Amino acid sequence: MQITDVSAVPLSDPVPEEKRHRTDLGTKVKSDAVLVFVDTDEGVRGLGASLGTPPVVEAVVEHELAPLLAGEDPMDTERCWEKLYAGSRWKPSLDSGYSQPREDRRGVTLEAIAGVDIALWDLKAKALGLPLYKLLGGARDSIRAYASGGWAPGEAAADELAGYVEQGFDAVKMRVVGEDGFSVDRTAARVEAARGGVGDGVDLMVDAHGSLDVSTAIRLAKRLERYDVSWFEEPVSPDDHPGLAEVRRATEIPIATGEREFTRFDFRSLLDRGAVDVVQPDVARAGGITESRRIAAMASARGLRVAPHAWGSGVLFAASMHLALATPNCHILEVSRAHMPMLFDLFEEEFDVRDGVVRPPDRPGLGFTLRDDYAERFKYVEGPEYVF
Ligand SMILES: [Mg+2]
Repeated sequence: MQITDVSAVPLSDPVPEEKRHRTDLGTKVKSDAVLVFVDTDEGVRGLGASLGTPPVVEAVVEHELAPLLAGEDPMDTERCWEKLYAGSRWKPSLDSGYSQPREDRRGVTLEAIAGVDIALWDLKAKALGLPLYKLLGGARDSIRAYASGGWAPGEAAADELAGYVEQGFDAVKMRVVGEDGFSVDRTAARVEAARGGVGDGVDLMVDAHGSLDVSTAIRLAKRLERYDVSWFEEPVSPDDHPGLAEVRRATEIPIATGEREFTRFDFRSLLDRGAVDVVQPDVARAGGITESRRIAAMASARGLRVAPHAWGSGVLFAASMHLALATPNCHILEVSRAHMPMLFDLFEEEFDVRDGVVRPPDRPGLGFTLRDDYAERFKYVEGPEYVF
C-alpha cells in the first residue's frame, strides 16, 4: 500500500453568545480544528486532526509534509514520523539512528505532524481491521472519565460541578480563574463551595491554565490542600519548568501539566526536573499517537500517570480515547463539558460516555464516520479563538 495524497481541511465551531465562558484565556468565541486526510492507492483513507492556526496548519500539511510521505507505506508509522520530524534530513537521521530534526521543530509544524500521525494510525488500524486501541496493544476496554468544566463564578461553581456528578461523573475539574476573575481568596472560596457541592467521594481537580506566578501558585496550593484536590493543573507558565518543580515541592497536591508541550524532549525536561505528577500530552500537539506513546513510557519509568488532554474536535477526542485505552499508566480521560458540537456532533456515531466511563466502538481505526455535512456545518471562520 502506498500513500498517494495528504490533505487538510480547516474547521471552526462558533460558540453562541449565551454559551460563552470567560477565564484568564479571555472569552472563547469559537473552537478551531484541522482535519487531516491520508489517502492510499488501495482506497483506504486515514483521518486525523490537528490543533494550531488552521490556514497555517493546512499549508504545512499540504506543502511541507505531504511531499515527504508520497509513495511511503502508511503501515510504517515510525519511518513516517522520522521523515516528518527530520524533514530534508530524514535520510541521515534514519541512517545514523539519531534524530536530526527540522529547524521548525515545534509549534504549528509539530501540530501538523501530529495530525498526520493520527491519520496514519487510523489508516493502519482500518487496513488491519482492528480498533486502534487493540492495534496499540489494548490495556483496557473502558476508561474512567472526568468532567472538565467549572467556569461558573463564586458559589455557582458548586451547582455547575454537582450537575456533572448528577450526569454520572465521579471526577470533575474546575478552572482556577472563573468568570469573576482571580484572587487567592475568591478561588479558595469557589473550591470550598465546589467541594461542598460534589461531596467527599468525588475527585476534584483545578486548572490554572499556566496563569499564575510561582509564589501565587504556592500560596493558592497551600490554601487548597484542605479541600482534597486531586491535581493542580498548569499552575505556572509552560515555559517555567523550574518554577513548576518549585510549586510541586511546596505542596502535597499532585501537579498535572503537559497540554502545551511538544515532543518527548519537552516532557523529558519536565520529568528530569521533577516538575510533574500527572502527565498530560495532547495527542494533536505533542506529536500524535507515535510520540504520545513514547511520552507515556517515559512517565511510566518514573512511576507517573498519564491523563491525555482532550479538547477541540471529535477526531482528537477519539484519538485520545484510543491512546488512553492502550496506555497502562493512564488512569483517566478528559471529557469536555463546554459547548462543543465539533467534538460531540462531528460524527454519525455518538461517543459512549455513561456513568463517568468512556467505552470505545468495536469498529476499525478510530471507529468514527464524518457526517456528510461536516464541511458546511463547521466551515472555517477567520480570526482568533479567544477575545479579551
Ligand atoms: Mg488544562
